[in-house]
Amino acid sequence: HPRRVTRALLSVSDKTGLIEFAKALASHGVELVSTGGTAKAIAAAGLQVRDVSELTGFPEMMDGRVKTLHPKVHGGLLAIRDNKEHADAMKAHGIAPIDLLVVNLYPFEATVDKGAGYEDCIENIDIGGPAMIRAAAKNHDDVAVVVEAQDYQAVLDELSANKGATTLALRRRLAAKAYARTAAYDAAISNWFAAQNKAEAPDFRAFGGRLIQSLRYGENPHQTAAFYRTPDKRPGVATVRQLQGRELSYNNINDTDAAYECIAEFDPARTAACVIVKHANPCGVAEGPDLVSAYRKAFACDTQSPYGGIIAVNRTLDAEAARVITEILTEVIIAPDATEEAIAIVAKRKNLRLLLAGSLPDPRAPGLTAKTVAGGLLVQSRDNAVVDDLTLKTVTKRVPTDAELRDLKFAFRVAKHVKSNTIIYAKDVATVGIGAGQMSRVDSARIAARKAQDAAADAKLAEPLTKGSVVASDAFFPFADGMLACIEAGATAVIQPGGSIRDEEVIKAADDHGIAMVFTGIRHFRH
Ligand code: 5GP
Repeated sequence: HPRRVTRALLSVSDKTGLIEFAKALASHGVELVSTGGTAKAIAAAGLQVRDVSELTGFPEMMDGRVKTLHPKVHGGLLAIRDNKEHADAMKAHGIAPIDLLVVNLYPFEATVDKGAGYEDCIENIDIGGPAMIRAAAKNHDDVAVVVEAQDYQAVLDELSANKGATTLALRRRLAAKAYARTAAYDAAISNWFAAQNKAEAPDFRAFGGRLIQSLRYGENPHQTAAFYRTPDKRPGVATVRQLQGRELSYNNINDTDAAYECIAEFDPARTAACVIVKHANPCGVAEGPDLVSAYRKAFACDTQSPYGGIIAVNRTLDAEAARVITEILTEVIIAPDATEEAIAIVAKRKNLRLLLAGSLPDPRAPGLTAKTVAGGLLVQSRDNAVVDDLTLKTVTKRVPTDAELRDLKFAFRVAKHVKSNTIIYAKDVATVGIGAGQMSRVDSARIAARKAQDAAADAKLAEPLTKGSVVASDAFFPFADGMLACIEAGATAVIQPGGSIRDEEVIKAADDHGIAMVFTGIRHFRH
């Protein structure tokens, strides 16, 4: 299926590499046809080029809105060469075949990114370009379509290797790329429109993204995977600079996202903080005067799980922190920034991935999250509720002390980032027991308490750190039993959303034990 290229239509907004490419095409005897600006650039380089208006018999008009939308162009792209009726139609209407289409689109995304106004964005919606790209890609049996300068060389290589012809394999690969490009382009437009219209229902097309990389495999080795960047520019794992270490895996990306979204809850101007994540759940989180102390406290929460974990910090990674973090095997470190010295220390661990995000994302920022279900996509606004903004209501006779209140807020902040059902014990702004992902809240409470006992045994402490701790629950206690399990583990104060029909029973149980309890009115389910 090799196809000789006799005529090419070039219409590009981004003229990078255009002249060299056009020259090379001309040297293969390809006739060049082009639109206004592109034709001018080619002619200025001393090459022969026909203006597309000569082909269509129509001038470019309406500020360039109508240039190539004409049967002479679309017939030349869409005609099946070895179909007799198509060939007859071409002859009857004087349509010449176009064997190569080179288009890159009006820079809609870049126009939006630079903060252009409404009219400007609208004018940068390309109409003729996508129409031609889609036509040529549909007819890839006969036509090659190039949508970015990166592919110029691949086409030239084939023309050289195949006496001026392209192979079907290349045309198919280019066609797939062409439709990915028009899909992403329309996604960017629809996303921009949704933002203009302040659409109430989240629009799944916002997730139309650009491929960052194909991943070696998915969650498991028999699954394929890829990583896409969405139009949302939230600082995080999709926008980081990777300084060193192996390529990120699917699970690394997922876990690193969990870690960085959690650490973003800790304002670096107020405190240093560290999160250690395993399997998308924090296994230790702590605040401290500096990153080293925060890391040590986070690690003390669970001294087994952190091996092979993901570490996120909320301030510039310094040498002292880099030194203690690299004492054990870690998969990923993510930070807003790092000192030269810290970078040099991490460099000794060749495989360890060091990611710098530039800044922390705003936990209060709006945005969307999505999850697939069989045959569908669930889209919601992100959970951007922050405990500092909530009105906490004390519902028990005893009011929490200042230290308890500080730890309660800390625990609830962390609970937001742990899979439900979630129970978090905290003391001295550090987690001391994390119960994650259980089907029963009572089990989460018990597991967290047992992990605290293990940590205490490891550290040869007389009693588990849950003694005299506070506890957070991501959702209300449907019965008193879950809370009683927390009290049994030694918690003296509780933070939870409230709102159960048995709240009174739960409050009474707290009062009976002299426990202080606050309601947040906000739930942090995370499934
Ligand atoms: P030039 O710089 O050659 O004048 O314009 C190139 C740009 O025009 C390309 O980005 C191409 O996608 C776009 N284009 C080609 N034909 C049409 C058309 O009929 N309508 C619109 N709106 N854009 C077109």
